[in-house]
Amino acid sequence: MIYVHIPFCGSFCNYCDFYSEIFSGQDAGAFIKALAAEAGSREVELAGKTDTLYIGGGTPSVLPLPALCSIVDALKPARMSAGGCFSEFTLEVNPEDVVRKGREYLEGISSLGVNRVSMGVQSFDDGMLRWMNRRHDSSTALKAYDMIRGAGIGNVSIDLIFGISHLDDDMWRKTLDMALSLRPQHISAYQLSIEPGSSLALMVKAGKYREATEQQSRNQYDILCRKLAEEGYIHYEISNFALPGYEAEHNSAYWRHVPYAGLGPGAHSLRIEGAGCGGERKYIRSWNIPDVRKYVSSFLSGCQETGVSGHRTALPSRMEILTMEQVSIERIMLGLRTSLGVEKSYLEAYSDRARLDVMISEGFLVPASDPSFLRIPERHFFISDSIIADIV
Ligand code: SF4
Repeated sequence: MIYVHIPFCGSFCNYCDFYSEIFSGQDAGAFIKALAAEAGSREVELAGKTDTLYIGGGTPSVLPLPALCSIVDALKPARMSAGGCFSEFTLEVNPEDVVRKGREYLEGISSLGVNRVSMGVQSFDDGMLRWMNRRHDSSTALKAYDMIRGAGIGNVSIDLIFGISHLDDDMWRKTLDMALSLRPQHISAYQLSIEPGSSLALMVKAGKYREATEQQSRNQYDILCRKLAEEGYIHYEISNFALPGYEAEHNSAYWRHVPYAGLGPGAHSLRIEGAGCGGERKYIRSWNIPDVRKYVSSFLSGCQETGVSGHRTALPSRMEILTMEQVSIERIMLGLRTSLGVEKSYLEAYSDRARLDVMISEGFLVPASDPSFLRIPERHFFISDSIIADIV
């Protein structure tokens, strides 16, 4: 699994606190060179993680097509070790970029090997989109979707947001109906949260926005689950739904705690050392600091240091060796987000046994489709955070 973080956006959405900068065309050249340098310096590591590629951000679609080609070129050794193509290659796009750049762009990304597009739609209500400070309106989202499908990309995911205090249930139903009328292969629906670094957090502080009540968000989550189930979508992770066979490979591996390599400013990586040699496994998380200027200058100056166990680690990155307790908590937290759940024996070994038994007897954890696993039933997904916090 390789993740590439593109730290640029066309505008900032009011709810977002991801690391990103407003894109000006001049930024692309040096950034792409630095990204290629990072990919080159981690070639051996990348060669072992080749099944899926996810280019996200930020907004990767702000980059011109030649810049995207250069990124894919830089990852050629990794792609070759996957037999010439990634089984799943996802690109995140903004609807306005898709419509403005047109068919040539879509054919270009398709010929690069992109076989899955994830589009940030968020809502089909124009007032809501303006409030979020999105760049597109609903008709642009519809047009972009048609264009993507028209270019032959047959696996499209759309992102939606609920749990906004001025989003009433009827508006939410209309957005869902519109989304379902497109029949995308995948839908991710996230409850709005107030992130401390976002402009929405400032609006809350200034009394310009009041958070949705828990009941309001819960109602909208229930509407979401019901409608998507009626249309044949599988609810395979708290926020993710897919038509059968279209569960996201990349994200599913992440939820199974599979090692991954992240490239670009702010991107995280997880690698495991000592696996398979009978020795103790060491889980190492590293991350590039979220600063595009420092990222570019350090990679282009070739400044590197030797990190844990002799691995060459490019500056400016940081790393930590996870304790076994951290590993088990992460594995439980990630696994219980999904319908697959976590092995019962693993939960018994690494969680609070008394509280685990209470959760099972009260129906907050039930056997998954593989009965040796336990999962949170869909009706309790909405309160999964508190269930998980109770047992780890
Ligand atoms: S939500 Fe996406 S498009 Fe909006 S500011 Fe954040 S990264 Fe950029």
